[in-house]
Amino acid sequence: MSLPRAVGATAVLICVMLAGCIDSTGGSDEVGARPDAGPTHPEALLLDDELPGLVVEIDFVEGYGPSQVALDALRATLEEVTRKNPIDVVVDEPSPAPDGPRTDERLADFARSVLDHRGEQPFTWQDRGVLHVVYVDGERADGAARGVYLSSHEGTVFLFPDTWAGQAPVVSVPGLPVDGPSETDVERHVLIHELGHALGLVDCGIPMVQDRLDREGPPCHSTNDASVMYVGYHDVTDDPLWWADRETQGPAWRFDEGDLEDIRAFQAQSA
Ligand SMILES: [Zn+2]
Repeated sequence: MSLPRAVGATAVLICVMLAGCIDSTGGSDEVGARPDAGPTHPEALLLDDELPGLVVEIDFVEGYGPSQVALDALRATLEEVTRKNPIDVVVDEPSPAPDGPRTDERLADFARSVLDHRGEQPFTWQDRGVLHVVYVDGERADGAARGVYLSSHEGTVFLFPDTWAGQAPVVSVPGLPVDGPSETDVERHVLIHELGHALGLVDCGIPMVQDRLDREGPPCHSTNDASVMYVGYHDVTDDPLWWADRETQGPAWRFDEGDLEDIRAFQAQSA
């Protein structure tokens, strides 16, 4: 069966790099592009008229399952921003690791092979929007990353826990913890960051009410360091901001007011 493609032939990738930046080989304007059939991913996740429910399917390679901290943050964030009812977060049984290097094509094939909630359109299943999250062992072959959102391929978020396992603290900041972020802190940050890309934040799928797009770094990132979408988080292993979130003293994991305002405006305009 041939499925409609979410974007053109060029894959669009948005990721949190290991110590680098975003990777967008296709240009940011394609992020959130309208698929041949059905809603865009932000529409499927944020609007509720035709797709009242939401299902998040989480698949993982054996030994790489999600933490409860990250799952709780994901659910709380989705409940805050989507207005969907019901929201089901389904954690599947573990899968055997895929073979070979983790190229984006191979990752996408793996995601398709484990995705149960797959409808006729790229981002929907029955009367629900779909978010697919896959935890994979090893590292991404097409540019090291902690996480990546592939806007094509059913809009899947991939996380690579091996890239942050055992991550050592790099600098010590007076008044802040010196141990660096915990693994669950990093996981939560990466998961919500990639969710932000799936939602089309920062001019990559839904319009910005207040312009805060960083135009010097990788596309689709914010100039505001209070947001999990802050551009600086892409190059931060030696940056105190990495664990200087105002509330948690860990990596930021929340959308800021600008992000939330964009989501509300998008929903109001489409109501
Ligand atoms: Zn990013």
